[in-house]
Amino acid sequence: MQRTQIGPWEIEYDREATRTAYARMKPYGCTCAYCRNYVANVSSLPDAVLQLLDNLGIDPAKPTEVFTYGMSNLLEYNGFYHLVGKCAAHALQWLSVAERFEVGFTQNIDMQPDEISPEQTLQMEISFQLPWLLDDPYTE
Ligand SMILES: [Zn+2]
Repeated sequence: MQRTQIGPWEIEYDREATRTAYARMKPYGCTCAYCRNYVANVSSLPDAVLQLLDNLGIDPAKPTEVFTYGMSNLLEYNGFYHLVGKCAAHALQWLSVAERFEVGFTQNIDMQPDEISPEQTLQMEISFQLPWLLDDPYTE
C-alpha cells in the first residue's frame, strides 16, 4: 500500500492491484447516449483529473456507474469509481481538482465490483461537467 493526501483524505492505496482489477473489468456496460458521451469525454478530461486517476490506477473509461442531469451547455455527471485502498472515515465533501471537476472519497461502497475484494474497496465519487461530444442529437 502507498499513502497519499488528497484534499482532506489520507488515503492508502495499491496502484498496481487497482490497475490489475481494471484490466479484468469489462468495458462500461451501459450503451445509452449519456453513458457513451461520458466515455467519449474521458480522453479529453483535464490533465489534473487524468493524472489523479492514473496515480490511483483507475481506468477513466471504466466507471462503476455514472448518471447525469441535463444542463444547458454542459451535462452534469455524477458517479463513482472504485479502487484498492482505504481512508479514514470522513463526511462526504467535494474537492475541486479542476474547474468543473470535483471528487470525493468514501468507504460507503455502492455496487461492489467483483474484481476488488470488499475489505479492500475504496470509492471515489465524481461530479464532472462535460460537453456533449456525440453526433447523436442530445435529447432530455
Ligand atoms: Zn447509461
